[in-house]
Parts: sequence; structure tokens; C-alpha cells
Amino acid sequence: MAVYTGFNEATALECKGQSLLADLEECEKNGFDYIEIRFDSVRDYLKDHTLDDLAQWFAAHNLKPWAYNTLIFFNQRNEAGVKEIDDEVDFIIEVSEAIGMKTLVTVPSFDVVKEDGNPYSIEEFRDEAVTRLQYLADKVAPHGLRISLEFCGAPGCSINQFGTAYEVVKAVSRDNVGITLDCFHFHGMDSHWEDLENADAKKIFILHLNDVENLPIGQLADIHRVWPGEGVLELERTFKILKDKGFEGVCTIEEFRPEYYELSHAENVKTAYEYTKAIVDKYFG
Ligand code: ZN
Repeated sequence: MAVYTGFNEATALECKGQSLLADLEECEKNGFDYIEIRFDSVRDYLKDHTLDDLAQWFAAHNLKPWAYNTLIFFNQRNEAGVKEIDDEVDFIIEVSEAIGMKTLVTVPSFDVVKEDGNPYSIEEFRDEAVTRLQYLADKVAPHGLRISLEFCGAPGCSINQFGTAYEVVKAVSRDNVGITLDCFHFHGMDSHWEDLENADAKKIFILHLNDVENLPIGQLADIHRVWPGEGVLELERTFKILKDKGFEGVCTIEEFRPEYYELSHAENVKTAYEYTKAIVDKYFG
């Protein structure tokens, strides 16, 4: 496997005329290899289509499904929250089996504090996340699914640096659990380069491509993402590390920028493809 181009549906999410089907058609037209499907988009689609329709669409086109985005807030949940996660995972299994999708992305909970109002320690967050991920990994394994943990580079996120997320993934110790490297999130809480340099490339299941405005650490939000190369991220350094490690998989563009939502849907996807293809050719070609 080499490195392929991918489109995350967040990139065009609020464009006029966006839908799962519109994203599929435009991604196919422009030449994307893979698409990451969003939880809200697929549910909208299923209001007037079936999973069989979706499977047939993929069977008839070159574009393939890469991952499900996102199983939100898998850790630090109460009893009702744990049930919600179980139900969502059942749904993800059903979708994935229907269309041959092999990976689900999950993000950690935000703004979790103890009953006395104090924060949990990194070890407390880690140990609980490990237990939850082991449970979820064993639940999805019989269906051939992998789980990719996406740390978020924000102060309130319970797992917010690459190194912490990687430690969780290692401690989970399951072949079907790996990490998502989102370039924006890596910078968001100033993750350590040596943690990336020391990581096993085979454990990087998902790669999210983007860039960001020059704002202080801790103040970056999704809306500050920009097209790759238009911001301050050290993309060259990141991709050189990945290439040297022999990274293989999909390089998926993921933007959330209001300005890009003002583009026509077709223009948004076309622009996303041009940026993604240029990066893949330059660093992995
Ligand atoms: Zn991401």
C-alpha cells in the first residue's frame, strides 16, 4: 500500500447542497481515493436511502470508504453515556459491514472533572481510557473493525497530546487499536516531536491533513484551520518523519473553516482535492 488521497466530510459540511451523496459524487469526479464518512451525514442519508443503496454506490465507483467519523466521547461516561456509546458502536458496525469500511475514529471527552471539581491526573485519564478502549476493541474485532484514537489539541480535552494518546494505544495492546494523527491537533497543544519520531508508523491508522492560522497554543479552534501550506504548521517536518518511517495509508484532508463553507460545494471539494493531491505527490510520491 502506498499513500492515498482522502476527503473528510467535515471539509464541505456546511456548503450549500452538501450531503453524503453530493460528497461521494464530487469526490469521485475529482479523483479522491477514499472518503471518511460523518455520523450526521450518514444518518441524514439513511432517512431516504438504505445501507444497501450505499453499498451499491461504492460497488459501482472507484471511491472507497475509509473511516467513520466519529464515535464521540468514548471515555469518562456515566451509565447512560456508556449505553449511548454501545448503541452508536452497534450502528457503526452495521454501516461498516454493509459498505466494507474497516476503521472507526473516536475522540475523548472534554471538560471532565471529579466530583470535588478537581481535574483527573493524566494517569487516571489514561487508565480509564485503556479499559474502555479494550472493551470497545474486543466488541468490534469480530466484525473486522479497527479503532483509531484521535486526541484533540484543546485544553479541555481529556487526552490532548500525541504522546498521551500513544501511551494509551500502547497500553490497550490490541492489534485493532491505533492513533489518529491530525496535524492541527498535534500543534494544538504543542505535542512533542520526539513522541512522533518514536512512534510505530503501523500504529498511525488515520492521518488528518490541514494547516492553521498563527494563534497562541491553547487558543486554536477548528474554525482556524486553513488549507495545507497556507498556515504555520510544520507539515514538511511531519511528512518527512512519516515517510522515513514507511507510513502507508490515507492522507485525509479535514477542514472546518466557515470561509470554505461559503464556496460552492463543487469548488470546495475540487480545491480540497488539489491541496491533498499536491501534498501526497510531494511527500509520498
Ligand atoms: Zn481530525
